Amino acid sequence: ATPTSIMVGTGRGARLGILVKSGAALQGAGGLTAMVFDKTGTLTHGRPSLDAVRLAPGTSGPDENAALALAAAAESLSEHPLAQAVVREAARRGLSLHKPAAFEAVPGKGVVALIGEKKILVGNREFLTENGVSGMDAADETAADLADTGKTPVHLAVDGKFAAILAIADQLRPESAAVVAELARRGITVVMLTGDALATAKAVAAAAGITRVVAGVLPDRKAQEIERVQAEGFRAGMVGDGINDAPALARADLGVAMGSGIDVAIESCDVVLMRNDLRGVLAALDLSRAVMGNIR
Ligand code: ADP
Ligand code: MG
Repeated sequence: ATPTSIMVGTGRGARLGILVKSGAALQGAGGLTAMVFDKTGTLTHGRPSLDAVRLAPGTSGPDENAALALAAAAESLSEHPLAQAVVREAARRGLSLHKPAAFEAVPGKGVVALIGEKKILVGNREFLTENGVSGMDAADETAADLADTGKTPVHLAVDGKFAAILAIADQLRPESAAVVAELARRGITVVMLTGDALATAKAVAAAAGITRVVAGVLPDRKAQEIERVQAEGFRAGMVGDGINDAPALARADLGVAMGSGIDVAIESCDVVLMRNDLRGVLAALDLSRAVMGNIR
C-alpha cells in the first residue's frame, strides 16, 4: 500500500470512531472469513449487575445480606467485572465490609479470601469443587435456570460450605445483534469465545444471533482457540477488551480492541473502537475494501 492510501483510510476511520494502528493489518481485513468475539465487555457492556442472592437450600448459613457482605468483602480487591457487580450491590444495600486479611484471585475461576475468621470462596462451580466444597448440586437447577436466561451464577462458600448463588446479569450492547447479522450476511463466520460457562454463553450468544460458541476457555488459552479457528482454514479476526484477550488479539489476522478495554488489549491490537461501538468492526472491513480498491 502507498502511504497516502493508508492515510486516507485512517482519516475516514477516525470519523467513524475507529483508530487504525497498522495499515498493514487493514490490508488483510477485507479477506477475513471469521470474526471471533469475546463475550464480557465486548458483546455485552461489561458492567454487570447483581440481580439476586439465592441462599443454599436447607442450610443454616448466613442470611442474604450477610452472604452478600462476605462475598463483597472477598471480591473487594478483584478488578473482575463480576467482582465489581458484587461490591456495587453490597454498597447499594449499605452493607459494611471487612477488609480481607488475605486474598488471592485465580484468573478465569474466582477469588479466595480470609474475611474475619472465615475462609471465603467466590467463583464458578468448578473452582469451589476444586477447593473441596460440596453440596452445590442442591442448587444446580437454580444455577441452570439462571444460566438459561443469560445470567452468570457465581457460587459462594463460607468455611468450605456452599452458602449461596449470586445471580449476575450483563446487558448485550444494543448494536451486537445487528453487527453479527451483517457479518453473517457478508459470509463471515461469527464465533463467541468466553471464559464463562457454556449455558450462560449460549443464552447470550443466542440473543446476539451467534450459533458457534467456545465457552469455559481459561484466560491463557484464548490465543490457542484463535489458532484452532485458523487451522480450520479461516482468516480470523478477534474483537476483545480484556487482559486475557491480549494474546488472542495479537494472534488473530486482525485484532480489534474496545476503547474501554484494558491497556494491554489496546497495545496488542490493530484497530481500536474508540466509541466502543461494534459497528466499528464493519467500518474497519469497509475501510479495508476501500483502501485496497484505491491501491489496485
Ligand atoms: P470472560 O472470558 O467472560 O471475560 P473470565 O475468563 O474472566 O471470563 O472468567 C471466567 C469465569 O470465571 C467467570 O464467568 C466466573 O464464573 C469465574 N470468575 C472469574 N473471576 C471471578 C471473580 N472475581 N468472581 C467471581 N467469579 C469469577
Ligand atoms: Mg471481556
